[in-house]
Amino acid sequence: MKPSNVIFAASEAAPFSKTGGLGDVMGSLPEAISLAGAKVGVFLPYYRQTRQQKFAVKLLLKKVKVSLGQRDIYFSLYRYFHRGVDFYFINKKDYFDREYLYGGPLGDYSDNALRFAFFSQAVLSSLKVLEISPDIIHCNEWQTALIPFYLKKSPGQKDFFPETKTLFTVHNLAYQGLFPSKVLPGIGIEQSFYIPEELEFYGQVSFIKAGILYSDALNTVSEAYSRDILTGEFGFGLEGLLQSRSKDIYGIINGIDYSKWNPETDNFIKVRYNNKSLANKAECKRDILSRFKMEPDINRPLCGIISRLAQQKGIDILIKSFTGLINLGCSLVVLGKGEERYERVLRSLSQQYTRYLGVHIGFDESLAHKIEAGCDMYLMPSYFEPCGLNQMYSLKYGTIPVVHSVGGLEDTVIDYQQNPSKGTGFKFRILNSYNFLKAVSRAIEIYKDKRIWKNLMVRAMKADFSWRNSAFKYMKLYGKMRVKK
Ligand code: ADP
Repeated sequence: MKPSNVIFAASEAAPFSKTGGLGDVMGSLPEAISLAGAKVGVFLPYYRQTRQQKFAVKLLLKKVKVSLGQRDIYFSLYRYFHRGVDFYFINKKDYFDREYLYGGPLGDYSDNALRFAFFSQAVLSSLKVLEISPDIIHCNEWQTALIPFYLKKSPGQKDFFPETKTLFTVHNLAYQGLFPSKVLPGIGIEQSFYIPEELEFYGQVSFIKAGILYSDALNTVSEAYSRDILTGEFGFGLEGLLQSRSKDIYGIINGIDYSKWNPETDNFIKVRYNNKSLANKAECKRDILSRFKMEPDINRPLCGIISRLAQQKGIDILIKSFTGLINLGCSLVVLGKGEERYERVLRSLSQQYTRYLGVHIGFDESLAHKIEAGCDMYLMPSYFEPCGLNQMYSLKYGTIPVVHSVGGLEDTVIDYQQNPSKGTGFKFRILNSYNFLKAVSRAIEIYKDKRIWKNLMVRAMKADFSWRNSAFKYMKLYGKMRVKK
């Protein structure tokens, strides 16, 4: 039973607000769902970041009430129609007119529990006033995880939403929304829910548990990650609870936006190319080598990394393997920003190995495109990866990914050695420096044979991870949820 009306609730969506991958997904998936045939609305906080961009939003509702605990809180609602989707903005200056979305350099905002509990209730209140009782409310991450809980447990909600089903998407299980129990009265949740079977989690209140326990179905952003999170290694202590819901957990890979990431149309890169004009890719490589003032030998394999410099991304493995990589005969460029300890080591290595290592610490969209285009290989030694985008961008740019076989990396890259006729990259199973270097060395061996390497690049560039495919899978899942009692 195809859904006709789908509402998304999220804490960010590009171009209105973005801190990372969630913003990209929420900026693309709703449009793809609308193209697949449903009427789609997206609820977002009206942040300062959104206000400053001066979209022509229309005031839709004034003085809408949310009752949280003992307090009545009022907000207004704006609407903006964008690429086939109604974007609704919850306007509450006290909570959202701030410099950052979740917190600044000094840490998370201390009232995040209240801000996002309010947002979750405000979504439900707005829907009631607008008289929209959707088939599906699609919630994302801990910030909207209370919606399924409020829908089932707050008085009167189910009367208005008798047929509405909730889907809860986990984009990254590492972020859980954990708060001290003293927040409970202020967010309208009775103390009786502060038990391990409900929302308590090792001495704190867990918002993500509300989503896991009370949604009608759950999904993660790749099939492999939907299995990974059921294990002690990747479950962050929630594996037991997730196992108890395993029948309702699905995996749907994110798409990527080929209007932005396509070497045929990319405005950021030196020379555009496609799988028939790969000589142009060599120009992009020259461009990168000269920007970073590195050894200009075009035949020396060049590896790239564009990443948050965080533990999750295996930056420690990269650093440990660095001299090994150089000894294997390759050069490396790194674009990243994040933990100071990694930034420091990478900077110092680049001063030592100027010819073979280029490092840019910072966030730079344009350089990211140039690196994707200019490198021969792309390295992802991530400890875990719910989906991962760069390996998919790399495939499109004919930049062969070498990845730890977890989560989305497992699902999107086919190992060349295991499947020479279908392979698109190189994978290794157990994450350590030895296995990582072995996989890079396998890639270099193939790289030496220009004909085989070219075939590999062409195949990689033909892989299709467009949003259309993912939207189709979401529509199927929504349909399945609707018929299930
Ligand atoms: P995550 O969301 O875990 O950081 P993803 O691979 O899902 O990882 O998405 C990260 C996105 O951010 C990619 O599009 C990547 O290119 C981009 N990115 C990460 N770091 C940088 C940077 N320093 N400069 C430019 N883009 C970056």
